[in-house]
Amino acid sequence: MTKAIWWVRRDLRLKDNQALSEAISSAKVVIPVFISDPKLVNSSRVGRKRLAFLYQGLQALNSELKEKRSNLVLREGQPVEVLKQLMAEIGATVVFAEADFSPFACQRDDQVSREIPLKLIGGSSISHPEALLKKDGTPYLVYSPFMRAWKSMYKLDSSQLFPVPESISTPTGLENDFEIGARHSDTQLDFRAGESAAQEALAKFISAANGDIYRYAEGRNRLDLEFTARLSPYLRFGMISAQECAFAAQEAMRRAPDEASREGAETWLNELIWREFYISILYHFPKVINESFRSDLRNIHWINDRDQYSAWQEGRTGYPVVDASMRQLLATGWMHNRGRMISASFLVKDLAIDWRWGEKFFMHHLIDGDPAANNGGWQWTAGTGTDATPYFRIFNPILQGKKFDPQGRFIKKWLPELSAVPTKYIHSPWKMPAAVQESSECIIGQDYPQPIVDHAFARDRILEIYKTARQTGRE
Ligand SMILES: Cc1cc2nc3c(=O)[nH]c(=O)nc-3n(C[C@H](O)[C@H](O)[C@H](O)COP(=O)(O)OP(=O)(O)OC[C@H]3O[C@@H](n4cnc5c(N)ncnc54)[C@H](O)[C@@H]3O)c2cc1C
Repeated sequence: MTKAIWWVRRDLRLKDNQALSEAISSAKVVIPVFISDPKLVNSSRVGRKRLAFLYQGLQALNSELKEKRSNLVLREGQPVEVLKQLMAEIGATVVFAEADFSPFACQRDDQVSREIPLKLIGGSSISHPEALLKKDGTPYLVYSPFMRAWKSMYKLDSSQLFPVPESISTPTGLENDFEIGARHSDTQLDFRAGESAAQEALAKFISAANGDIYRYAEGRNRLDLEFTARLSPYLRFGMISAQECAFAAQEAMRRAPDEASREGAETWLNELIWREFYISILYHFPKVINESFRSDLRNIHWINDRDQYSAWQEGRTGYPVVDASMRQLLATGWMHNRGRMISASFLVKDLAIDWRWGEKFFMHHLIDGDPAANNGGWQWTAGTGTDATPYFRIFNPILQGKKFDPQGRFIKKWLPELSAVPTKYIHSPWKMPAAVQESSECIIGQDYPQPIVDHAFARDRILEIYKTARQTGRE
């Protein structure tokens, strides 16, 4: 009787899980296993909230598996050693897993497959980075042509989605170590972990009644409104498949009642393709984790002022839209995409602090912290990446606030000290006359900081810094 291990990594789901489906069709007995790798779990890049979300997700997966007469086996240790020991213990001959294209995972899986039969199936992205290449066989370096090629290659239909298995035959009585995650079960999170929560989030986003997907193009940048899908933590851990989301987007495009709605759904699909693009970039250029993609911008002389860095981390820069975004991150482990762009731009362009410091901080705190998307987002903002926004495009935090949080509702939600500040001053509270500061109970310099840097000065300074870096980088 063939026995196989389904090694769960970043695919905590039963629906549309190709690795699980293959395991079930190839073996009579399938043992779902998650290995808590101390190298990952104890890394400074993984914060408390993301770990809690993962372990709560594992608990949810275990419950779903129990409904299928199976259960999750949770072990701790170095993956290859744990797998070898488990295979011997239960007599399994093969391990199935979803391919993960991050440099860490590729290296780990290479090591594992040298010692045991490991079958990597499907992947955390829809397009395999080796499959979607330019005609000359090299990877795309620019998003738009990648996106066009992706769209011509992937026209999804429902028959491509792997159904939830009816049952999984798993032996009972295997030693289990759910204690490993127990201390995380009480952590309160803004996101309920697990596949059913992910399915609910997708259903809500694409439902005709709600219609957010159809209004996504116009609403996605508004900080004060909830127009985005809030699916990133689920996609991060594969509690929903990227393929199911992309299929939902394409289906919404086909059913759109008008052109504007179709555009809304397509804009959302394009975001999912950004995810694919950054996965491909990191796979082909793993060095971007530590250095700028653009070689002419590897010698930037950052100012790296530690006090200003702390002010940014704690959301007390004196620029409300930046501070509200950072406080949202600290409180919830999630930040709106516009907030990410604004606060990242402020760190790099206004404070002249190395984008890698910000990348590290985001990675630690984000529940959806993902090496490819996070690195891509930071390098895009810093103008050092592949498909970079020109480095001289610098976000003005006051104008960004006015445009994407016009009444200051988002700001007031996260900065209660500004709750009585009149709308006229909400994006530049330091301009409030003394009497208005009194009446709104917000004394600048006391209840809320003065701006830690003058934006116009900072703009000129960073342009000079980048200019010098480019000159020396080319030499
Ligand atoms: C500096 C910076 C850091 C970021 N770090 C991360 C990160 O660690 N993890 C992460 O998942 N996203 C990251 N993003 C991308 C983006 O901000 C989030 O994916 C998005 O805010 C998640 O919210 P949502 O699910 O409501 O997204 P929606 O707008 O509903 O988009 C749907 C999905 O598309 C994907 N997506 C959307 N925008 C992007 C993008 N620009 N790049 C890659 N994928 C995208 C996500 O998987 C997202 O869940 C970062 C962006 C920036 C500017």
